[in-house]
Amino acid sequence: MNIPFMRLDRQFKMYKDSMIKATERVFEHGRVLQGPEVKTLEHELSSMFCLKNAATVGSGTDALIYSLKACGIQPKAKIAVTSLSFVASASCIVHAGGIPVFIDVDDNFMTRQDILMDLIQKRSIDGIIAVHLYGQMMDLEEIYREAQKNGIFVIEDAAQCLGSTRYGNPPGKYSDATCISFDPTKVIGAYGSGGAVLTDNQDINEKIIKSRYHGHLGNRVYEEVGFNSQLATVQAAIILLKLKYLDEWQNRRTAIANSYFEAFQYIDSITLPNIMKGNVHNFHKYVLRIKDKRDAMTQYLRNKGIATSIHYSPPLHQQPCFNKYMSIQAPLTHVESIVPELLSLPIYPELKDEEVTYICDSLISFFNLS
Ligand SMILES: *Cc1c(COP(=O)(O)O)cnc(C)c1O
Repeated sequence: MNIPFMRLDRQFKMYKDSMIKATERVFEHGRVLQGPEVKTLEHELSSMFCLKNAATVGSGTDALIYSLKACGIQPKAKIAVTSLSFVASASCIVHAGGIPVFIDVDDNFMTRQDILMDLIQKRSIDGIIAVHLYGQMMDLEEIYREAQKNGIFVIEDAAQCLGSTRYGNPPGKYSDATCISFDPTKVIGAYGSGGAVLTDNQDINEKIIKSRYHGHLGNRVYEEVGFNSQLATVQAAIILLKLKYLDEWQNRRTAIANSYFEAFQYIDSITLPNIMKGNVHNFHKYVLRIKDKRDAMTQYLRNKGIATSIHYSPPLHQQPCFNKYMSIQAPLTHVESIVPELLSLPIYPELKDEEVTYICDSLISFFNLS
């Protein structure tokens, strides 16, 4: 069997007719930028997240950069961010003129609350990029309350958390702005890049709209120098179509996760993902920890035609692009110890039952042999 890490080809086959129709409509009306589908998507997102404003932009990365600017980041401002995430969670800080302060993670792969709280109370940071990793949400309720008291802004990086909730709430309740991504690898992917910023704050929303197209609000008075980072109308049309399947696809990913949970529960050297209390995990990623044998197992699975991935290695504080911020860094021992154990298994709605069984059997056979 050959099981790649993603199957957009299969997805297209399943939804071909409706996808072609959705794109055709855009080509026919011709409003290829800021067309009606973009507005509809923004309305839909704002109601999904129960937030007043949604502004689409060219990528999740841009959403983060513009949010930092809209929250008033000052030159050399210190912004806390986890060391375990996609590079954009931290590179956005550098792009916006700030300095990333990397924070260690807990056993749920999330930013350590106690460290964050300490930095807030000492006012040794100016802002926080709070990353909801792999498909579940970190607890931000007290963090945000304390941050507000101390004049520190909080931006949620919810790129991996479309469809996730914590105690019934989607991302966005405990922050100044929430960023999402429509990268093709995400649960709802465009045929290209895309992202959005969600916020209840009118001023932040206006600033995002100015950032995404040359610093004006549709009147050709360029109040600030801006960028050109618009979500193409055709992408909005595809995202709108895919959003209809968000629940169905999430149910399928959850069923696959449950098969994995069941199959691997008795293997001692595997730590299964933990579903945090109150969370509905969207299973964007299914990340195992494998003691000692991760690389041997990866190779074994590869030989059996199964693609896996590692999210993320090396940790951000060890990436060359952040070298120059290392002198201000506290030790990050936990993230360094877990990164060599991380392994992501394929998990997407197009995965067939017999493929899931094959993955489970292959992984178990590795441990029986070794
Ligand atoms: C994908 C991702 C981003 C960046 O989004 P793009 O749309 O790829 O620019 C940022 N943060 C996290 C956690 C992500 O997974």
